[in-house]
Amino acid sequence: METTHLEPIQKNKPSNCMCRRNFLGGMAAMGAGTLLPSEVLQAQMPKLAGRVNTHHHLTAPAYVKFLSDNNVRQFPNKSIAEGLDDMDKSGVSTAFVSTIGPGFWFGNPTDARRIAREVNEFAARQVVDHPGRFGMFAALPVPDIEGCLREIEYSLDTLKADGVYLFTNFGDKPLYGDKYLGDASLAPIYEELNRRRAIIYIHPKDAACCHDAQPGIGGSLIEYGTDTTRAIASLLFSGTAARYPNLTFIFAHGGGTMPYLASRFLGDLAPYLQDNGTLRAGAPAEKKTSAMPRGMLPELRKFYYDTASVENPLALMALKKLALPSHILFGTDFPFGNGMEHVENLHASRVFNEAEMRGVERENAALLLARLRT
Ligand SMILES: [Zn+2]
Repeated sequence: METTHLEPIQKNKPSNCMCRRNFLGGMAAMGAGTLLPSEVLQAQMPKLAGRVNTHHHLTAPAYVKFLSDNNVRQFPNKSIAEGLDDMDKSGVSTAFVSTIGPGFWFGNPTDARRIAREVNEFAARQVVDHPGRFGMFAALPVPDIEGCLREIEYSLDTLKADGVYLFTNFGDKPLYGDKYLGDASLAPIYEELNRRRAIIYIHPKDAACCHDAQPGIGGSLIEYGTDTTRAIASLLFSGTAARYPNLTFIFAHGGGTMPYLASRFLGDLAPYLQDNGTLRAGAPAEKKTSAMPRGMLPELRKFYYDTASVENPLALMALKKLALPSHILFGTDFPFGNGMEHVENLHASRVFNEAEMRGVERENAALLLARLRT
């Protein structure tokens, strides 16, 4: 069965190869009577479409202005048309949008609520104006808990957001947080999102401890990956990951440094990790704690991880041993980098077999995100 829509993009080759003919031919070849239940589910997905990008950044004017007015950062100001162009060139049919850091908290709940709302309404308009091309994760005005609960209700019920997003750290002071996602103050947010069986996308930003720890070396080089690992550790050791089983966490950038620190986190179990979510024979029993009654590995394998900035064999081979293959999602980090180069690097890494690559590029997301099945 041909799956040409998910083949590596080749330079100078149109990315939008029309796949209806291939799809119909493939269905006929499969034979309707031979389909297993899981194959029926797969067949119901819109296979005519291409890649799904869960890491595509939004340029919301209210947020750009807010960051500019406060002299926070230069925003990579890209238009929706430029985003669509990058998607077309890299064979991405649908991108799920969120903003870059540092978030919306400058010590003022009124501003934080207003900006999060404006960002979310801008994202919802982008979704509506380009049917099928975008989904959205909604911004929350953390640490304003009451504001977050209101925005969860509005964004999920009215704007039909596909989930929400949080940054790896937060705090009472502006910009760089000193608290992590397992902090008890966030419990009401997790309670509500768990009740709704929601998706939470986690994106890094500099933390108070370490922003500019090495002047001249930007946060994206070391801190984003490191702070993602801090956020994962906080969710694990606080018991948050185990306490809210209906939550789905997606971590940007392959979970940061987490796969490399497997021995620190998993101890004796780490040497037994192998591909496809299995442990080599002879692995010791999982250590269980009150925070992780099932052990740590089941929690880590409950999480999802995107491929943004880790599309190289070193990082992907490590990630593939820690995460379930079905929990790795395609992500480009638009407007940073180039979608087409991301695809080429992902395939050149030779880490995923054909079936796994189909999962990474589309099918894993299609099983996770209801918008892709309607
Ligand atoms: Zn990003």
